[in-house]
Amino acid sequence: MPLEQRQVHNVAEAKAWDVLQSVQDPEIPALTLVDLNVIRHVKANDQGVEVEMTPTFMGCPALDRMKEDIRIRLQEAGFKNVRVNVNLTVPWSTDMLIESSKEKLQKFGIAPPPVLQESLPATLLLPVQCPFCNSTETRLESEFGSTLCKQLYYCDSCRQSFERFKPL
Ligand SMILES: [Zn+2]
Repeated sequence: MPLEQRQVHNVAEAKAWDVLQSVQDPEIPALTLVDLNVIRHVKANDQGVEVEMTPTFMGCPALDRMKEDIRIRLQEAGFKNVRVNVNLTVPWSTDMLIESSKEKLQKFGIAPPPVLQESLPATLLLPVQCPFCNSTETRLESEFGSTLCKQLYYCDSCRQSFERFKPL
């Protein structure tokens, strides 16, 4: 859901979005859950708040942690009756990352995923750019980085390993 389509009906919902904007991805703290675009809907009023989210990777071990973080942060912000529902019917893809997240990833030393939508599988064959020196003299070292959603690459130019957000 592009941010401009986000529906905010009242002050409580605007406040809830502000809180969510600051909840970090447990696996990639450079990104918030809003950057990841996993929050589908927020409904809030004086009685409580309900958040609907979609998981990034099916079976992502961070999902429970995300739900818990959302619950705690909203409670800390004064919301009562916090409910977090996971919608498994909406598929998430790395194409849904909001545009500014790519820059954030890069600054954090993680190569952002390529846009898949239009030219799959051609984009998957493009060389991966090193987030440190921008060289494309890189190679895949392992399908798995520190977490399931990242791959491990090595840059022959600056001789550093780096992770890449796995395109999905
Ligand atoms: Zn490099």
